[in-house]
Formats: sequence, structure tokens, C-alpha cells
Amino acid sequence: MRPVNKGKDAGEFKPYQDAQNLLQERIGEFCSYCERWIASAIHVEHKQPKNEYPKLQYSWQNFLLSCSNCNSTKSHGKLNLDDYVWPDVHNTFLAFQYAAEGKIHPVTGFGPSLDARIDKTWKTLGLNRHPDTATNGFEAPTTKDKRWTHRRDEWEKAHRRQIELKKYDTPHLRGCIVDMAASRGMFSIWFTVFSDDIDMRRRLIEAFIGTDKTSFDDEFQPVKRTATL
Ligand SMILES: [Zn+2]
Repeated sequence: MRPVNKGKDAGEFKPYQDAQNLLQERIGEFCSYCERWIASAIHVEHKQPKNEYPKLQYSWQNFLLSCSNCNSTKSHGKLNLDDYVWPDVHNTFLAFQYAAEGKIHPVTGFGPSLDARIDKTWKTLGLNRHPDTATNGFEAPTTKDKRWTHRRDEWEKAHRRQIELKKYDTPHLRGCIVDMAASRGMFSIWFTVFSDDIDMRRRLIEAFIGTDKTSFDDEFQPVKRTATL
């Protein structure tokens, strides 16, 4: 999950939908969770649900952007922030591993507490939805939930572009590939596929608006953003 930086606290927005433009300006027109580019109907997402936490309904601190799939999958009940990892707080790129066929795996080995938070985030957002239900923790997607097929297709596209780049490596082609990626979303897939190419990683971080730069070192390897993650 792409770590994002929402910038300076922008205060309160009434109605909360008014925050949409500034969020899009600062973190791009991408779902904060599944990372797809959303042409329309992107929601101002409340990290802590507005019905349960009415005081946070208008608060910039509580906002992200989400697609209808992530929005409807995420629990609408009480939600303790410390039970999850968040793309505007943590380096969530370290929390999940992206793989072929549209799969996302939670990363483990951080210790029981953080491992449980990552696992809970994965399941609560339905990022564990994939038809390969024989794999531990995966759940069957609903018919309306195409997130896994979009990831699968994007992974294949990124791989084709990588092969093309090996044959005809030019700065122009690099720029074209990154422009295409940034117009489609799914930063984490592109960043994973181009993991051995420092120049492409640098370009991807630049091109995806609002990617948190403190989450990557001088060689564009992901690093912890806070003491936790
Ligand atoms: Zn989404």
C-alpha cells in the first residue's frame, strides 16, 4: 500500500465532501487502500467511521480517499486506529507484498503486535480477496469486487513494460512508462516490478503525487517512517 503524505493539517471541512479536491491535489486521484486510479465517484474516506465518531466527521486528520469497493468492504463499526496500519501514518509499502495474479500478502516478522495489525488491515479492507482460496487467509471476492483482476492485469502490464525497457532502454521510454503508470494507479505493483531499477523507482515516487518520500532511502528502498513502521 503506497505511503502517502497529506501535507499540513488543513483543519475542518463542512460538509466533509469539500475536502475531496484538496485530497486529490495532495495525494492524487487514487484509492488510498487498493491504489487504483478512480475516474469518478471517489469517496472522502473516514478512517474512523463518521457515524461512530461524529466529532471526526469533518477532520482532515481522519480523511483519506477510497473507491466504492474499499469503502464498502471496510467495517463501519467502532474502529481503534491502533489496531491497523495507515497509509498516511506508516510506511505501508513495507506491510504488504504484491505478487503475480493479483495477489497481496501481508508481510510478517515484525513481531506479534504489528503482524496482527497488518493482518487485520489486510482482511478489513478485503485486500485478501482472491479466488485462490486455498491460500491461507484468502477469501473469495464478490462479483462486484474486481480489485484482484485489476491488480492481476496491472502486474502483467508492468512486466511487459519492463521487458520492453530491457530491449529499448531510453529516457523517453522510461518517462512514457512512468506517465502511463501514474495515470492508472497501483504504485505498489509498479514499484515492486521495477524493484531492481533505481531510476524507475525514483521516477515512480516523483510521478505518483503525494507519495511519502521519507518512506524511502537514498536508493529508493522502503524504510520505516515511524518507530512502529
Ligand atoms: Zn480501493
